[in-house]
Amino acid sequence: MIDLWFTEKHSEGAKFSIHVKEHLYSKKSPFQQIDFFDSYEFGKFFTLDGIMMANEKDEFIYHEMITHVPLASNLDIKKVLVIGGGDGGTVRELTKYKSIEQIDMVEIDEMVVNACKKYLPLTSSKLNDKRVNLFFEDGLLFIKNKKNLYDLILVDSTDPIGPGEGLFSKEFYENCFEALTKNGILINQHESPYYPFNVREMKRSHNKIKDIFPISKVYQFHMPTYPSGHWLFGFASKGVDPLNCNSEKWNSLNLETKYYNTNIHKASFALPNYVIELLNHSNDD
Ligand code: SAM
Repeated sequence: MIDLWFTEKHSEGAKFSIHVKEHLYSKKSPFQQIDFFDSYEFGKFFTLDGIMMANEKDEFIYHEMITHVPLASNLDIKKVLVIGGGDGGTVRELTKYKSIEQIDMVEIDEMVVNACKKYLPLTSSKLNDKRVNLFFEDGLLFIKNKKNLYDLILVDSTDPIGPGEGLFSKEFYENCFEALTKNGILINQHESPYYPFNVREMKRSHNKIKDIFPISKVYQFHMPTYPSGHWLFGFASKGVDPLNCNSEKWNSLNLETKYYNTNIHKASFALPNYVIELLNHSNDD
């Protein structure tokens, strides 16, 4: 039997490997290289340009934290825009809220969505909810000239290389600000404070967002298969403070979550000193 391992470089000096049962799919789309695998430890997973996106074992952590933190901060959210998110995990969490009326998802790569429907039903199963509208376009162009439309924008993007690069630009964040309603919230994939590449992107992202939004915070969660396992989301808003979340009201919804709860919600904004220091000096380089 051949011993197959998927290996991702997490930094110049560190690699992460997963023992693979089977390489299920390998295709190049107009935007990126797409691969699906089955593995012993993490179940099925997929990579874009060789970088882990989602797997059956830890996807719930990322998708719950990107979704429930803003929703518990404002339970009146009705219209949501997801940018990226082709695996459907973020949409699956959003559909748990009966109060949400419209979910627009803009994914640049239709091949990612089609392959996830086939190999990852765990995340893609709610993409056919009747509130969901799928757009196969570049999120950067989609958001331009949209005014006062969405209560929440979730940027569920790849790293800032390849098609995801523009989703970390100042122009994009400014367009998101314009597209949000007066209580609007923007959550973005905020990279990680540990390895140099991720630190650079984390600082660049924070530096731009904090100049545009009156409230700009960062919260953390642990993601075993992402570089260092320590990952961040940005929480930016026109006025909603995530630390004033209504725990009682959220708990009364009785939603089923495996990672998120309202204690984690508050605690996730408490950052280690070295991360605070890096964010405070985000405009240094
Ligand atoms: N949770 C993942 C992570 O951080 O590794 C992200 C998952 S999700 C699959 C990222 C998606 O963003 C990909 O499917 C990719 O095709 C999409 N994407 C990248 N750039 C985009 C753009 N400019 N507009 C819309 N979608 C984009």
